[in-house]
Order: sequence, then C-alpha cells, then structure tokens
Amino acid sequence: MKKKIAILGSTGSIGTQTLQVIEAHPDLYEAYVLTANRQADLLVEQARRFHPAIVVIADESLYPQVNDALSDLPIQVYTGADALEQVVQNDEVDIVLTALVGFAGLRPTVAAIRSHKQIALANKETLVVAGELVTQLAVENRSAILPVDSEHSAIFQSLMGEDSDIEKIILTASGGPFRKFSMDELKIVTPAMALKHPNWDMGAKITIDSATMMNKGFEVIEAKWLFGVGADRIQVVVHPQSVVHSAVQFRDGAVKAQLGVPDMRVPIQLALSYPQRLQSDFDRLDWYHMADLTFEAPDMEKFRCLALAFEALQRGGTIPCVVNAANEIVNLAFRQEKCSFLEMADIIGETMQRTTFIAKPTLDDYFAIDAEARRIASELITRNS
Ligand code: NDP
Repeated sequence: MKKKIAILGSTGSIGTQTLQVIEAHPDLYEAYVLTANRQADLLVEQARRFHPAIVVIADESLYPQVNDALSDLPIQVYTGADALEQVVQNDEVDIVLTALVGFAGLRPTVAAIRSHKQIALANKETLVVAGELVTQLAVENRSAILPVDSEHSAIFQSLMGEDSDIEKIILTASGGPFRKFSMDELKIVTPAMALKHPNWDMGAKITIDSATMMNKGFEVIEAKWLFGVGADRIQVVVHPQSVVHSAVQFRDGAVKAQLGVPDMRVPIQLALSYPQRLQSDFDRLDWYHMADLTFEAPDMEKFRCLALAFEALQRGGTIPCVVNAANEIVNLAFRQEKCSFLEMADIIGETMQRTTFIAKPTLDDYFAIDAEARRIASELITRNS
C-alpha cells in the first residue's frame, strides 16, 4: 500500500525536495495533499503533475485562480488557514510533512497530531514555540514525530539501535556566511550577502536565521524537545564543511555521528521511509577529495541570537514563543532593509524583556503572546528607523 503524504508548504525548498523523493519512489508514496501560501502557479503545476486529491492555497485572494486552473481535474481545492488544519485530519492521510515556514505551522501540526498522524517535521518553529505542549500531545495521541532537519535526523540516526542515556548532543553548525566577519563588518552586511549560504540552498527565512545563527538556537530548542536533553547537554560546534550533520556522545564516551553530502533529500526520505532505508541516487561522500573537516566553538557575542535562544530555553514558559515571534518580525524587516543585521538581536532581546510571561501556557496563550511579541517587535523597528 502506498503511503499518502500531505505536504504542508509543497512549493518551498523542503516541499519541492519532498516531491522529488516521492517522484523517485512512485510505488511507495503518493502526494495526497499539496499546499502553498501565495505561489499559485507553482501549486497548480505541482497539482497537474502529481494529481493530489486535495490542494490548499492559503491566501484566499488566489483561490479563484487555482480553482479555475484545476477545474478539469478531480482535485478538491480549499483556501484559508483553517483549511490547513482540516486537510491534515483527512482519514486517507498517513504522513503529514510540515514544510511551511514559521508560526503558521503550529496549528496544522497540532491538528495532525490530534488526528494521530505520523509527523515528518521540518517546521522547527512549532517546537520552538510550543515544544512541551506539542511533544506531550504527540505522546498522548501516539503520533510519532520524525525529524526532517538534517541535524536532528543525524541525532535520530545516531540513536538508532541505542537504548542507553545520551550524555551529550553535539549539534553542528556551518557558522553561516559571516563566520569570519568582525563586529564592524557585521554592522554593514546586506540582505543579499546574508541570503548566500555557503553549503545549503534553503528558503529565505531560514537562510537569514542561519546567518544570525538564530537557526542554530532554534535547533537547540528543537533538540531538547525531540530528544529530552537539557540545554546544558547540547553543545553547538561550528563545522563549516557541513559533512558531520551532528552526533551523540554516550556515557562510555563513545560518539556516534551521521555524515554525508549536504542534501536535504536524505533526511526527508528517511522521515518518510523509517524504519527502512531506501535506495537513492543522491551524491555520495568522496573520501579522497573531501575538504579538511574542522570544528570550533561558536562566538556567542558576535552571534547574539544563539545566546538569546539558549536564554529562552532556560527561562522557558512563553519566552521561546516570544523569541520566535520577534525573530519572524526582524527577519522580514532585515530582508526589507528596515533594520540592520545587528539590530535584529537587539530587538529580539528587548521584546523578550517587554512581553508578558506565562510559565505554563495553553495553546491559546501562545497565540496571544505571539501577537503581543509581534506588536512590540514591530514598534521597536519603527522606533529605531
Ligand atoms: P520556504 O520559504 O522555501 O517554503 C515555505 C513554504 O511554506 C512554501 O510552500 C510557502 O508557500 C508556505 N508558506 C509560507 N507561509 C505560509 C503561511 N502563512 N501559510 C501557509 N503556507 C505558508 O521554506 P523552507 O522550505 O526553507 O523551510 C520550511 C521549514 O523547514 C521551515 O520551518 C525551516 O526552518 C525548515 N527547514 C528548512 C530547511 C531547508 O533546507 N530549506 C532545512 C531544515 C529545516 P509559498 O511558496 O506559496 O509562499
């Protein structure tokens, strides 16, 4: 029986690579639900090629365009944020791959978990915002969350076949395009410079998060919730070549790592096929011609966003939600040249101080705090400009 996959965010970087994996294994997988926010033309093109049962265009103004373009096919077309929550609950869906970006991923992921679906999780923001609530819901609903993020997939793979406690997680980071920049150089970096990642070709938001290292901070939070390990046992190690995707150290001192060519299709495929591994024609490591593998400590003063994420994890409650919301605001503002590279961390830090704190938030609390933090961060940007 083919597994039916709902891809939330099929038009993005992870979404399109997921479709490549599905296309390579037509006997095993079927794209059953495809969704996009605004890229209507690409969504239509994907729908004509993959013949899903359902598509969702989140932006309601684009519904007529998508609906008309697919009217000759037996495809149900829905629109709006609520539709994302509904389609993941469809009885036919086996796996929900969450590849939409940002806080928008929280509600549909929670709905999918409540419907006992298997989750292939790329949308790390869901665990950053509400990791405790989401992982608890997953246990209650016997919904497995399999990581798509390459580092977490590497940790997951290092843990396969192990039942002893984790002593430490070694979370590798490329260091981004500005690893060697001085503070003075960081003051004047442009969005175009930040959008050029040395090793990975990703969506715009995560590429900026990689340049600030907020992405790594989010991955620390994600690792805590996926693997139940506190921040004091997660070590970030800068490894510019992105060959060692992350590692686990066990109590006897042994370290297991997963290595490979940087290619997101590897962890995407495993998240769909686990516990099997499938054949692939992806590039292999070339051991005789590999660059030197180097490892160094991250500079938390230069990359203050990483320190802020650690602080958020330590303070807990709604603070990680605040960091995520403020980060979404400054990330976009930086891309629109409304704030500078270094101002991003300043604004996130100040938003953390000024937003209401709730120690044991409910799902509704997260929505209220997200809105409050976005408002405060936006005001700070306006004040500074
Ligand atoms: P992209 O920006 O490339 O794609 C995002 C997708 O989500 C698009 O399909 C987009 O639609 C859709 N989308 C965006 N906003 C909304 C919204 N408000 N409602 C509904 N749909 C929306 O992002 P990436 O693929 O790079 O990243 C996706 C997630 O995966 C992120 O959480 C990221 O952190 C994570 N991730 C990404 C990696 C990568 O290599 N790219 C690696 C590891 C994790 P449209 O195209 O119409 O705008």
